[in-house]
Amino acid sequence: MLSERQTMDLVEAAFLGKQHAYSPYSNFPVGAALLCGNGTIVTGASIDNMSYGATICAERTAIVKAVSDGMKSFVALAIVANVEHISPCGLCRQVIAEFCAPEMPVLLVPGDYSEERNGGLKVTTVGELLPE
Ligand SMILES: [Zn+2]
Repeated sequence: MLSERQTMDLVEAAFLGKQHAYSPYSNFPVGAALLCGNGTIVTGASIDNMSYGATICAERTAIVKAVSDGMKSFVALAIVANVEHISPCGLCRQVIAEFCAPEMPVLLVPGDYSEERNGGLKVTTVGELLPE
């Protein structure tokens, strides 16, 4: 279970990640933040490519950044986009499942999230995100 503090930090970090999104083709900036076992938060941004298949999602960016820096133990992941309901794509679900335990919480953060009303934050798990 994430503490309120951890949740707030993670949501904030995901918004920070989104600021660095490169989205000239999709116009759909996404940010992610990954809480690592050592307490570090690694952010990620979506990075478009002219060749659609080369586009890298924010959540994959965060995981790849963390793993390539030697971290392989993760506590929670937050994802934010400028929409009400964000959901990781199939590729990301695969990558998340590779490194994260099925019970790990995944925070799906709406673009208009505000702390005061805990607005629309949806908490799911890696296991729930995975197709059967
Ligand atoms: Zn994806």
